[in-house]
Amino acid sequence: MRNRYCMISMLMSLLSMNPAHAQSDCLDELDCESSWLQLTDADRAGVFDFAQEYMAFIHEARTELSFVAEAVRLAEANGFRPLSEVDDLAPGDKIYEVNRDRTLSVMVIGSEPVSAGFHVVGAHIDSPRLDLKPRPLYQDNEFALFQTNYHGGLKYHQWTNLPLALMGRIDKKDGTTVPVSIGLRPDDPVFMIPELSPHVDRGRNSRPLGEFIEPEDLDPVVGHIPMDDSGRAVVDQVLAYLAEEYGVTRADLVSAELALVPAGAPRDMGFDRGLIAAYGQDDRLAAYAALRAVLEVENPQKTTMAYLVDNEEVGNRNNTGARSDHFADLLSRLVYRELGSDYREPLFRQTLRATRFVSVDVNPGINPMNPGAWERGNAPKLGYGVNLKLYGQGNNANSEFVAWIRALLDDNQVPWQTITYRVGSAGGGTIGGEFSRQNIEVIDFGVPLLSIHTPYAVSSKVDVYSLYRAAKAFYQFSE
Ligand code: MN
Ligand code: MN
Repeated sequence: MRNRYCMISMLMSLLSMNPAHAQSDCLDELDCESSWLQLTDADRAGVFDFAQEYMAFIHEARTELSFVAEAVRLAEANGFRPLSEVDDLAPGDKIYEVNRDRTLSVMVIGSEPVSAGFHVVGAHIDSPRLDLKPRPLYQDNEFALFQTNYHGGLKYHQWTNLPLALMGRIDKKDGTTVPVSIGLRPDDPVFMIPELSPHVDRGRNSRPLGEFIEPEDLDPVVGHIPMDDSGRAVVDQVLAYLAEEYGVTRADLVSAELALVPAGAPRDMGFDRGLIAAYGQDDRLAAYAALRAVLEVENPQKTTMAYLVDNEEVGNRNNTGARSDHFADLLSRLVYRELGSDYREPLFRQTLRATRFVSVDVNPGINPMNPGAWERGNAPKLGYGVNLKLYGQGNNANSEFVAWIRALLDDNQVPWQTITYRVGSAGGGTIGGEFSRQNIEVIDFGVPLLSIHTPYAVSSKVDVYSLYRAAKAFYQFSE
């Protein structure tokens, strides 16, 4: 397949019919041009259409909870059904499972037995943000404010003076759940952490960045009007609003997961609209691409799965994070459904051993403001495709699996590059290690971004599309 493609491509470039497919000549030399230059007109339209759908999705899906809700809607619209409602699984069946509203698996059953291993693309669906503390509400200098804690690695000063939305859920003692989403609609109010104006702040200019804003300072203003002229507090007004609007008390906020996230909409960036500026692309870019690809899979050989998981930004914790046994639990149930009373532990272990897992998590790409953060020869560039993470120090996929992936990507004309950080000065976690620990064959992929973990991260539209195509090729793999 690969050789045939090379020959066709060489012929086409010799005839100058289509410079867009001269790519394969450069693969062995690792000197391919920007992916933008490889696109046909039809490809280019596909890139822009896909980006638009992605941006509309992540506008709504700004937390793990909202991602799962939106993704389930999309999966059901594409004919996927909850695993719990399907009695007998057959090849080609399209199913999904939700773990505690915060982790989602979307699957298409393969023609091979599940014990022959899965093809999984995994990504995380939480992003850096501010969470409310259990007793968030207080008053200071006639303002009502929320106490917050951070989720994930933030540069604290970047989260001030920008509109924030409040999203999440409040769980009440009677077992009901109250969903909360304020700040995404144009006529919604927003919240903000007001940093000092330069007029009154000359004394702090010399402070080191890490001390300029302390994490305990990240408290947004949430109210301003006193309850009434009897001098009752601004917080009383806020509590009255919460009671009226949501039927909740101060104590109900103890059993709540409320996140403050940037309220701005995803936007095209640059005159040419080639870039996307949006909150939460780490890692919902990868999660969306993996999801869209699995929704389009038909009759795969291997059982395919998008595994979209919570809590990567805080170390893969809790029963909805990648370190949870939920993934193994799900696989064992699927093997049991296939084998019934023939189920044995070694057959489940064999399933893990035979599974291939592409763990995708975005990473920084070369930044024009500070290219010196990189050793350039091993740095990823926006617009040059998915990147294989080869961080060294025991993190890399085994070289034979890297070779297998290279063949898959090249056979499917998916542009790729590699990333290794400048030694000793950079790093970043992912979910991959939690699966390789279970004796699964894992490779870490990424997509290069600018401004990761800030309120607006930046991706190249062509890379988003390349990842989607890579995921699809991996799911539809047959041998
Ligand atoms: Mn990430
Ligand atoms: Mn991250």
